[in-house]
Amino acid sequence: MTGDSAIAEVLLPLALDGPYSYRAPAGLRLEPGAYVSVPLGPRQVTGVVWSLGSATATGRALRDVSAVNDMPPLSETHRKFVDWLAAYYLEPAGNVLRMVLRAPGALEGPREQIAWRAAGTVPKRMTPQRARVLEIAREGFALRAGELAEAAGVGVSVVKALARDGALEAVALPALRAFATPDPGAGGFALSADQQAAAEALRAVVAQRQHKVMLLDGVTGSGKTEVYFEAMAAALAAGGQVLLLLPEIALTPPFLARVERRFGAEPAAWHSGLRPRERERVWRGVAEGTARIVVGARSALFLPWKTLKLIVVDEEHESAYKQDDGVPYHARDMAVLYGSLGRFPVVLSSATPSLETLVNVDRGRYGVVRLRDRHGRPELPEIGLIDLKRASPEPGQWLSPPLVDEVRRTLAEGDQALLFLNRRGYAPLTLCRACGHRLECPQCAAALVEHRFRRQLMCHHCGHLEPMPPACPSCKAEGKMVPVGPGVERLAEEAALQFPEARIAVLSSDLARGTLLSDALRDVEEGRYNLVIGTQLVAKGHHFPHLTLVGVVDADLALESTDPRGAERTWALLAQVAGRAGRGAKPGRAMVQTYLPEHPLMQALRKGDRDAYFAQEKAIREQAGLPPYGRLAALVVSGPDGPDSERFARQLGHSAPLAEGVSVLGPAAAPIAMVRGRHRWRLLVKARREVNLQAYLRLWLKDVKPRGSLALQVDVDPYNFL
Ligand code: ADP
Ligand code: ZN
Repeated sequence: MTGDSAIAEVLLPLALDGPYSYRAPAGLRLEPGAYVSVPLGPRQVTGVVWSLGSATATGRALRDVSAVNDMPPLSETHRKFVDWLAAYYLEPAGNVLRMVLRAPGALEGPREQIAWRAAGTVPKRMTPQRARVLEIAREGFALRAGELAEAAGVGVSVVKALARDGALEAVALPALRAFATPDPGAGGFALSADQQAAAEALRAVVAQRQHKVMLLDGVTGSGKTEVYFEAMAAALAAGGQVLLLLPEIALTPPFLARVERRFGAEPAAWHSGLRPRERERVWRGVAEGTARIVVGARSALFLPWKTLKLIVVDEEHESAYKQDDGVPYHARDMAVLYGSLGRFPVVLSSATPSLETLVNVDRGRYGVVRLRDRHGRPELPEIGLIDLKRASPEPGQWLSPPLVDEVRRTLAEGDQALLFLNRRGYAPLTLCRACGHRLECPQCAAALVEHRFRRQLMCHHCGHLEPMPPACPSCKAEGKMVPVGPGVERLAEEAALQFPEARIAVLSSDLARGTLLSDALRDVEEGRYNLVIGTQLVAKGHHFPHLTLVGVVDADLALESTDPRGAERTWALLAQVAGRAGRGAKPGRAMVQTYLPEHPLMQALRKGDRDAYFAQEKAIREQAGLPPYGRLAALVVSGPDGPDSERFARQLGHSAPLAEGVSVLGPAAAPIAMVRGRHRWRLLVKARREVNLQAYLRLWLKDVKPRGSLALQVDVDPYNFL
């Protein structure tokens, strides 16, 4: 019997639903939230003390906590956050904790502040594992033993043995650079009256030190960023940490520089591209409270906040806040949850707020501050619809005569035009004119997209690449493969014929992120190009002062999807793209090509009437019981074998409990029925708003165990319907 010795319940970053019990040896000072090292089988694992208690006489011999780290403990709010998030998304709490502990090295003590690099000598014994470690060690960066082992896919013992042999040499890691303390009053403009009123409203909310969500609503360029900076300044002045969440692609060096100018201190940045040592620096800085401002992508929510007092979610409508793999969570929604657990405000900023957020404003749950355009411009430029049924382009072309005329006129006047088409590559489909064979990805049930600049076919679902075949793979006919439909590259070809004088730039994510894209954007901004052809990449807040015409080549694309938010997304995207026109001195206009000019969305767009559009969309959603008026969860079954996956999905469907206010749709083959060689079946659970959807799912799934290579993914509040 263990008597009354202390017991630590330790949550481990593994797929476990709850903490494991360990004995706290006398002399170890443990507190809830402490980071500890505990034995698990033959390994030592880092976990977090979830709670402390005294031993009930179970008679079971518990193992001892091995060591405790001297980091400040993970706050109670953060631990609650992990538990709530896990319960909400039906995820093992340990998987959520793993997202918190995602900075390997950060918990290493002073003795581990060494890294290893290749010494240039050959070890006494060589194995394939050792060779892999040495290969990585020769690449130049000194890495910690753990990082080196992970990169090489071997155990740490291999690294240690190489070090003993003298094949690796130790170097001291440089100390982590300290964070400068921000000055809430450092930069900033003299705000306009509108901005001042909005900033005052947000500051007042921050001063209340309570949970409150505020929507900051205003077109791009209306000065929202400067306004939420004021809210951040107030939270900083009150001694708190602040988190500014951005969609990853908006997290650019110029934006970070802007934050630095405003607060006189470089903010901590958190995104997927950070080097291990920098991750460690930010993680520790957040845990210790020295990193006061973090500008981060969605996963920054999980950093071990010490005194978080404000979260700002910029571009709150962005679907990039939803993570689909791993733990599927929505960072905007979880930011609101965190604020309610931590009793602090959350600011949601957007030029095109999501319907969810607008409905929360309607219901009085969220507050709102609105900003008018600082230059007195209307919300949207003048928008004209082009009915493609009447003004059809020539066969094999996509620009209608009225749009061609408009572009010509714009270029002749010395202004810039933008043609928007949300499709990368040359053509979305290639088929054989002789036998009708379509080129498809071998791993996915999806057409391969031709990328002519790269001379390759690409699968947009798994990244598979292959060269264009010289003959049809099916009937062997030569020279019969034809592209079907346009991508931006093909549109550029058409534009070059129509506007031979134009200086054309094609902007899509194929330019990758790095300098290519930022150079191209700068060249457009400075007017070196006068005709821009781009995907949604150009819709995101870039400021092109010479742009006066936006042509939307295919406005119907997103409307055709099975996504219940398809129309809402179309609205946001078209409003954003149209809004690129006329941001400089001259007014702008947009022309939208559509086969559905009578569609209420197109009509509302033409009138620039957002309220009318959302009123319509709310009615549709309410009628259909879709979010935010009802709740959804998607269950996706996948497996390497088609019939197996289908059988399991059907059994799953049959075992769905009957419940008032819940309906289960499907299973049906997913719209993309195979991805990366896995056959996919979907079920959709639709529930009324008052239903406890999680309880229903738990009841249903408690005994469901996909066998072998079958997998079941549960996606609460899904955004992906493919
Ligand atoms: P939004 O976040 O709504 O897109 P920003 O805050 O980025 O708008 O403002 C758009 C541009 O106007 C930025 O270049 C910003 O520096 C500038 N700006 C914003 N507010 C002011 C102000 N009060 N005085 C001068 N320039 C301002
Ligand atoms: Zn594929």
